[in-house]
Amino acid sequence: MYGFLGKILRVNLTSGTIAEEALSESLVKKYLGGRGLGTKIYMDEVAKDTDVYSPDNKLILLTGPLTGTLATSAGRLMWITKAPLTGTIGCANSGGEFGPELKYAGFDGIIFEGKAEKPVYLYVNDGKAELRPADDLWGKTVYETTDAVVAATDPDAKVCCIGPAGENRVLYAAIMNEKHRAAGRGGIGAVMGSKNLKAVATRGTGGIKVADPKGFLEACTNARDILKANPVTGTGLGAYGTEILVNIINSSGGMPKNNWRDGAVDPDADEISGETLADKYLVRKKGCFACSMACGRVTKIKDGPYKSAGEGPEYEAAWALGSSCGIHDLAAICKVNFLCNEYGMDPITLGSTFACAMELFDKGLLTLEEMGGNLVFGNTDSIVEFALKTAKREGFGDKLAEGSYRLAESHGAPELSMSVKKQEMPAYDGRSLQGMGLEYATSNRGGCHVRGYLTSPEILGIPVKLDPLVTEGKAAILKTFQDLTAVVDSIGICLFTTFGIGLPEIANMLRTCTGWDFTDEELLAAGDRIWNLEKIYNMGQGFTKKDDTLPPRLLREPLPEGPAKGKVCELDVMLNEYYQLRGWSDQGVPTKEKLSELGL
Ligand code: SF4
Repeated sequence: MYGFLGKILRVNLTSGTIAEEALSESLVKKYLGGRGLGTKIYMDEVAKDTDVYSPDNKLILLTGPLTGTLATSAGRLMWITKAPLTGTIGCANSGGEFGPELKYAGFDGIIFEGKAEKPVYLYVNDGKAELRPADDLWGKTVYETTDAVVAATDPDAKVCCIGPAGENRVLYAAIMNEKHRAAGRGGIGAVMGSKNLKAVATRGTGGIKVADPKGFLEACTNARDILKANPVTGTGLGAYGTEILVNIINSSGGMPKNNWRDGAVDPDADEISGETLADKYLVRKKGCFACSMACGRVTKIKDGPYKSAGEGPEYEAAWALGSSCGIHDLAAICKVNFLCNEYGMDPITLGSTFACAMELFDKGLLTLEEMGGNLVFGNTDSIVEFALKTAKREGFGDKLAEGSYRLAESHGAPELSMSVKKQEMPAYDGRSLQGMGLEYATSNRGGCHVRGYLTSPEILGIPVKLDPLVTEGKAAILKTFQDLTAVVDSIGICLFTTFGIGLPEIANMLRTCTGWDFTDEELLAAGDRIWNLEKIYNMGQGFTKKDDTLPPRLLREPLPEGPAKGKVCELDVMLNEYYQLRGWSDQGVPTKEKLSELGL
């Protein structure tokens, strides 16, 4: 198979055995790789009533056919399992360099099953793999673990690992790679921790064969040229990172304040913007493997109480720890973001859970005594203190580690959790961006902005400008974006490429890489198949139409100010149309005809 190595590793952590298995070409053609293929393998192998922390649960790491090739931004890998935070399918992807290195070591992916008796790490080195003891790494941070594993293996090894948050089963623990890249959402790091698997290291010197080298080079060069000429991918992302969105989203009236309670126009937004970050703390920009956009930020707080260094934050992290908590000290936000990298936690859910606790306190449903601290809107020091307590599950941190839904529910007010399917929504108000509201409600992994990203047409005008305040046409474009994103996540390139290139360019790279004969429409249909597969998994876990919804605040509390003043999210109108376009019943259930059409 071109683009693939054709082999995966199966690692049984209970018995300590490691086996090589061939990838099925027919399955690969149908589910593409990464997210699609990983979900298919997971559903075939794991009984649907399996507890997320049972040794019978599996954790799957898969790359895509373009991962590690010359294709633009082709550094992606995908982790698939059941998500502890939501109970939905859990799939989280990451860039960096680990995915390419694994392929150069000879494997497209790894299936982890069972549970090790004691902590271990896996080392995959040019066609060989071995489990090694990791007792001395348990309790160590992501940075410490990465340095120790590199020292014990190869100076050029790439390392994925969990930090203390994953060991302590924080429900939004991340799996980090190269210290700063995160497969962040849904709590997959807690699944890795439950298996006593601390890290995976890989080193490879092989290569990847493509079907049509000349055609592939032309397709990749064409895609790169388009990305370089585009103002977002050629200039904006590199200059300011995703933090460039702070002032853009805020001026559109879509940046929620104080747990989404006090409108979505933040007068102090510029204090936490990409422009301010570049001015005060940016050391240099940084890109993942083969990426010309380089949205990564290497940042440093040189002095003061938050003196520290690391990478980030992204827009959504800066918002969650910033505007959503009434905080505008960018140094403190950077510091907490660094702690999230070090301890392996998702900063979106962390910041949103802080904001939920702050509103519970405002409403008299949570006391300072219960908190054992002062986690209130605007208290900058408190977010540093409680980030550490959460990672360690110390004191009130133990409750924060469960995420906002469980916290709010345990205090009698689940409606104060700004989450969908128990995962917190990030940074874009669904009252100001109606399509984003529909996207959150229908996302197969709960509140999420990267399962379609309708901010592109609604705010950035990519590929066409749509009025963010209207509902017409949003269901149709969302379905296309969701299907295209499923393709992108499965073949191993970064979603941000779609700011510049579209289906024709992506299909050309994939065709010339794999040698497969398919039309652009057939490729998009593969995305539709993957989306429906995830939907079927969620239905098996008990999710129904009632879960395709938004927090009551977005449906009933009109925005008080800004361009979207007076608006709520008109979800009902869009949801019915969306179900129809998907070929689902009015209860959101895929019909037999639809499943048959997709070969499911
Ligand atoms: S755009 Fe950013 S996240 Fe995507 S591959 Fe490039 S550096 Fe990584």
